[in-house]
This record gives sequence, C-alpha cells and structure tokens, in this order.
Amino acid sequence: MLKPGVVTGEDYLTLVRNCKEQGYALPAINVASTNTVNAALEGAMLKKSDIIIQLSNGGAQFFAGKGIKDTHAARVIGAVSAARHVHTVAKEYGICVVLHTDHANKGLIPWVESMIEASEEEFAATGHPLFSSHMLDLSEEPIEENLGHCERILTRLAKIDMSLEIELGVTGGEEDGVGTDVDLVDNNKLYTQPSEVLQAYDRLSPIGHFSVAAAFGNVHGVYKPGNVQLRPEILQQSQAHVRNIHDTGEKPLDFVFHGGSGSSPDEIKEAVSYGVFKMNVDTDTQFAFSKAVGSYVEAHPAAFKYQIDPDTGTPFKKLYDPRAWLRACETSMAERVQQACDELGASGKSIATA
Ligand SMILES: [Zn+2]
Repeated sequence: MLKPGVVTGEDYLTLVRNCKEQGYALPAINVASTNTVNAALEGAMLKKSDIIIQLSNGGAQFFAGKGIKDTHAARVIGAVSAARHVHTVAKEYGICVVLHTDHANKGLIPWVESMIEASEEEFAATGHPLFSSHMLDLSEEPIEENLGHCERILTRLAKIDMSLEIELGVTGGEEDGVGTDVDLVDNNKLYTQPSEVLQAYDRLSPIGHFSVAAAFGNVHGVYKPGNVQLRPEILQQSQAHVRNIHDTGEKPLDFVFHGGSGSSPDEIKEAVSYGVFKMNVDTDTQFAFSKAVGSYVEAHPAAFKYQIDPDTGTPFKKLYDPRAWLRACETSMAERVQQACDELGASGKSIATA
C-alpha cells in the first residue's frame, strides 16, 4: 500500500508489479488543461482505481496557454505547470497517480531533455522527480538508433528514479500530429518482432526501468475497422522469447497498449493477460468531453446568444457561466474514464491507503 498522490521511483515499480500480479492495467489519460486533469482524477477516484496522467507535447503547449509565443520553452513550462497542478491536487483524490509524458519523436528529444532537467532540479531539492516517466517514440528510426537514444536518456532518468517508455514497431494512425498513415506503412512494420523486444531488454534492463509500447496491429485514434488486424499474441510471444533466453519470471516485460480508443473489451482483456499494465486513452476521452458541450448548447441555445432571455427578461448567467458547461464536460469525460477503469480491470484495485 502507498500514500495517495503522485508515485515515482520504487513506488511506481510497486504499482506496475501489482498490476501485473493482479492482472489489470491502468488507464493512461491524455490531458491538456486543469479541467481534463481533474476529470481524469475524478473518474479514477469514483472507481477506486489508480491512474496514469499524461501530456503530449501539444498538450503541454496548450497547458501553458495558446496566447503566449509557441516556443520550446513554452512547451516545457506547460508540462511543468501541468505536473505542479497534478502534484498539488492528486492526494485529495485518495488514489495513486503516475505522471507521464506521451509520444516524443526524434525532433522532440530536446523537449524531453528539458523536462528531465526540471526533474533533476526537483530531485536535488526534494528527493523526488517531477514526473514518474517520459516516453520516447523513435519507432520510425532504425532500431539501432532508437535503442541508442533510449540508452542515453534512460541512463539520465535512472539517476533520478524515473522510468522510460519506448516504442518498437509502428503503431498506425496519428497521435497529436506524431504518427503514420496506416495505408502507407509496410504491413510487417505494424507488428513488433519478438527479436526486437529482446534487443531492447538486453540493452535497457541493466540501466533502469523501462516499458515497451509494442505494435500488435493497434492504431492511434478511431478509424473504420478492418484496415489492420489486432494480434495481441505478439506480446505473449515476446514475453516467452525474453523469458526463454534469460530464464526470467513469467512476464519479464512491462507492456503498454497504445491506441486503446475503440478497442473491444475482449481485445483489451487479452492484451492485459499478456503483461500490459498501461493503456492509452485519448481520442475517446476527447470525444466524451466535447459531446457534453454539444448537448448542453443544444439544451440551452438562447443562453449562448443572449445574456438575458429576450422573451422573459430572465438573466441567463447561471447557464452560460463557463463553470456550468465545463462541469458537464468534466462529468462526461469522468464517465468515460470510469469505463476504461472497468474494462482494464482496475476498478477497486487502487493500492493507495485511505
Ligand atoms: Zn504509440
């Protein structure tokens, strides 16, 4: 059992181990504002589930504010601001919260390095890093180059009790502008090879903790079904390959399921049984947030045109107060997060002590 709030280092590893031993995974929800952070935390709290909160580079920029100049610094400041907000409120929700950043391709390595700098300063001051982990998605580069960067970054992260998520094989679709058109990719590349997973294990496990987003036909975003076939058994084969070579425990690898939006409950269950401890959900929670504002405006159209009802003279203030419709968005997003907790088997499994 852990104290509620942001977990890093050994506590993070305890949480990951617990997921795999108990056979469930944590929802990793993308956020870009305090509203989406709070909605994600609320959904997990209502299900007594622990949760992973993550930001993309674009989400970090949005967090800093679209009104300030969009620079490298703004995208670092936004990520730090989001992290500070999560640290400040997380413990009030009574659950464990992992703080992570999402897809960073080769061009975004400097973004990751600047955030590591912020965590190094935090670590020197408090003994804890600002984030639990970062992600590097160099799956479009040759594997040698991918793993080379991962080694270098993980060496730095391990010193401050942080973990690294890597990506092997191409997950189709697009995640916040980073990604690949499924139809243009050689079909074999949509499936990670167990030999590649072994290479990653050999090179990274001596350095520190890492997790692997493996491609098994999963797609970022929600598309028409039928383009790609989901083959979660690739995860099982990769576990077996590493286990046989290194004589490890049953599931030596910590897998991450990217492109979780739109997956069926059975597909999710199967992937989790092969050692997935984290599933990214972004597209579906975005839609859940936005559809609530649609319904709200439909129900009160006049309140979005006039401050006072032209027929009755009644002020509309209570209806157009942004807190009214933003709360509807939060509630709707929190419901989708609860669905994710249920589908991943995470409901009721929080290891935070009350
Ligand atoms: Zn991915």
